[in-house]
Amino acid sequence: MFYIKDQKNIIELLFPDAGEYNLILESIGNFAEKELLPAAKRVDQEEIFPRQNLEKIVNQGIMAMPFPEDYHGLGLPHPVYIAAIEMLAKACANTALQVSIQGMVCEGIRLFGDNRQKNELLKEKGLVEGRSLASFALTEPCCGSDAKSIQTKAELSGNIYVLNGTKTLITSAAEADIILVFARTDKGISSFLVPGGTPGFTVARVIQKLGFRGHKLSEIHLENCKVARENLLGEDGRGLDYAKQILNAGRMTIAAIAVGIAQAAYEKSLLYSQERTAFGQSISGFQLIQEKLADMATEINAARLLTYYAAHLRDKGKDSVSEVSQAKLFATEMALRVCDNAIQIHGGYGYTDEYDVHRHWRDARLLTIAEGTSEILRLLIAHVSLKQT
Ligand SMILES: Cc1cc2nc3c(=O)[nH]c(=O)nc-3n(C[C@H](O)[C@H](O)[C@H](O)COP(=O)(O)OP(=O)(O)OC[C@H]3O[C@@H](n4cnc5c(N)ncnc54)[C@H](O)[C@@H]3O)c2cc1C
Repeated sequence: MFYIKDQKNIIELLFPDAGEYNLILESIGNFAEKELLPAAKRVDQEEIFPRQNLEKIVNQGIMAMPFPEDYHGLGLPHPVYIAAIEMLAKACANTALQVSIQGMVCEGIRLFGDNRQKNELLKEKGLVEGRSLASFALTEPCCGSDAKSIQTKAELSGNIYVLNGTKTLITSAAEADIILVFARTDKGISSFLVPGGTPGFTVARVIQKLGFRGHKLSEIHLENCKVARENLLGEDGRGLDYAKQILNAGRMTIAAIAVGIAQAAYEKSLLYSQERTAFGQSISGFQLIQEKLADMATEINAARLLTYYAAHLRDKGKDSVSEVSQAKLFATEMALRVCDNAIQIHGGYGYTDEYDVHRHWRDARLLTIAEGTSEILRLLIAHVSLKQT
């Protein structure tokens, strides 16, 4: 069973009448196990963008889960969506990452877009369902954490914005139909919806990386890239504020991906420890191995609780900046510890391609960096706490 007891217990705690949600999540769990899991290793080894998986996901309605029905969403609670993402990540982290980015961009359009943008992009172009793909382009060679210093410029000329600059470390920019690009106007940082293939928008190079190898990481050149004035998202000069809110939504899903990856590494370690023998007995009989297994299980559940709790606060419309940051901070650092222990339990084989655990570690390694480093999240959490006192 891919939808595990620990997930079900939290969903039932949050929703006493959780019957329908359990059925949905059981079905998504079966889908993830049968349809995504078998190809996950190949997606990584052969660096294949998981387009086929994403097409299958459209039929399952997974991307659409938390969005309103007005935009072809399913209107489901965020903890249910988070539980689904956790299972996607457990099966294939590369697939889950695109779902996360897609959700983040859709949330930006939902929160800050005008009615035309919402109808056209979320609904007609099918961003909410995943029929079109999205990418998020904030980082530049000069600055990632220090987003307020970005250099890309957008100059208004008549009814056209002309974008010039470089974006780097951008996921899925080459595959995306819509890229949410942040650039500086004379009013401050603003956000633009740039259709893929717009003249002047080029993928200058693909950057090799440690994990999440199903995704291409690109450097983007914007050279006199022209977009209509109506492609400005929200108000001119408010882009940095939008980026913070959009990232807050994204971080919740990154936390869920971390929990899913850790769960995969843990379950594989549990099995391996029972199969592998040393000194005439199964290594699961050694108390030092049991200690690792116990710590892994405890930390995964702690991260899961933080993550589903943050998702619940979002549903309730409560300020969740600190709680989402705590979930992302704890879950991503936890995933690294768990995956590291998983490699240790697998011994030398854990370091090889024969087993999956090093892939889980390589994938987990990104998560304490992307969408807010652990350092930046610690600053944010402390800032919220200090403001409250
Ligand atoms: C695989 C991958 C995928 C990515 N996908 C995307 C994407 O799709 N879109 C996108 O826009 N970006 C993306 N990024 C970029 C990512 O968001 C940035 O790498 C991240 O925000 C950190 O920025 P930076 O790399 O410039 O590091 P820096 O900001 O230069 O930070 C370097 C180090 O200094 C620390 N630091 C910085 N400021 C402070 C401070 N004030 N106090 C204490 N420590 C500090 C950081 O925590 C970090 O440890 C991706 C990155 C990777 C690796």
